[in-house]
Amino acid sequence: MNWPRAILTDSGGFQVMSLSQLRKVEDKGVTFRSHLDGAIVELSPERAIEIQHLLGSDIAMQLDECLQLPASQAELRRAMQLSLAWAERSKRAFARTGGPALFAIVQGGDDLQLRAESARVVTDMGFHGYAIGGLAVGEPQQVMLRVVEAVAAALPAERPRYLMGVGTPEDLVEAVARGIDMFDCVLPTRLGRTGSALTWEGRLNLRNARYARDPEPLQADCGCPACTRFSRAYIRHLVKQHELLGLRLLSLHNLRFLLDLTAGARAAIERGEFAVYKRHALARLDVEEEAATWLT
Ligand SMILES: [Zn+2]
Repeated sequence: MNWPRAILTDSGGFQVMSLSQLRKVEDKGVTFRSHLDGAIVELSPERAIEIQHLLGSDIAMQLDECLQLPASQAELRRAMQLSLAWAERSKRAFARTGGPALFAIVQGGDDLQLRAESARVVTDMGFHGYAIGGLAVGEPQQVMLRVVEAVAAALPAERPRYLMGVGTPEDLVEAVARGIDMFDCVLPTRLGRTGSALTWEGRLNLRNARYARDPEPLQADCGCPACTRFSRAYIRHLVKQHELLGLRLLSLHNLRFLLDLTAGARAAIERGEFAVYKRHALARLDVEEEAATWLT
C-alpha cells in the first residue's frame, strides 16, 4: 500500500460484527457473507494472521469475537473464551509467518470479572502488546471508562495498551488518563466525509448556513492543510457543491485535531503534568459539547 510508516491491521473480528448480517461463529472460525459481493468468506485465526502477514503488517491483531452491547453474561463468557482460544491459535500461526508484532485482544463486554479473566490469560500467553476490544459498541461512556480502567490496570504497563475503536476527543483524554497508549477510530474521517469538523468550539456542521460568510479557519492555530489555506465559508461551499476536496480537507483537519490532542497529552505526560492537561482539555471540550448541542 506504499505507506512508509508502521501499518496496524485488524484481524476482521470487529468488521464481521459490524458489516455482516449473515454470519456463523464456530470454534474453527467465522463464516460470513461479504457485504460487497455476497460471496461466502471463511475466516479462521490462522487465515487472519496469514492475510495480515501478506499485507505487510507491522502490528497484527489476533482474530476475536466482538459482541454488541448489551449482551447476556453467558454470551459474553462464550465469546470471551472463544477469543482466548483464538488468541492461542493466532500466536501459533504468527510464530510460523513471523512479523514484527502481534497483539492480543481482551474481551468480556461490560463484565469486569470476565475482563479480568481475559486479561490474565492473554498476559500469561505473552504478546507484544494488548488491546481492549468490544467497547464503544453501544454502551454509555461511564461503562466504557470503568472497563478501560480495570483492564488497563490488569495489563503489563511496559507493553502497549491499545483501546480499539475509540473515540471522541473526550474519550481519548479520559482513556489516556487510565493508561491507554494507542487508539484507532473512524470518527475523524467519517465526520469529515459527512461534512463535520472537530474543533475546541464543538463539532461544526459545515452545511450550516451560519458559515456561509465565515472567513475564519475551521480552528484557529491549527496547522493542517485546511486551516492554513481555506476559510469555513469556502470549505462550506465545497461541501455544498459535493466537491470531494471539501470532504478531504475536513478529514485532514479532523485527523490533525486528534493528533494534536494526543501529542499534547504525550508532552504533558513527559513533563509530569498530565493531570493539568486533562483538566484544561476537558474544560475546553465541555464548551464544545454545549456549542455542538446548540448548533444542531
Ligand atoms: Zn485544521
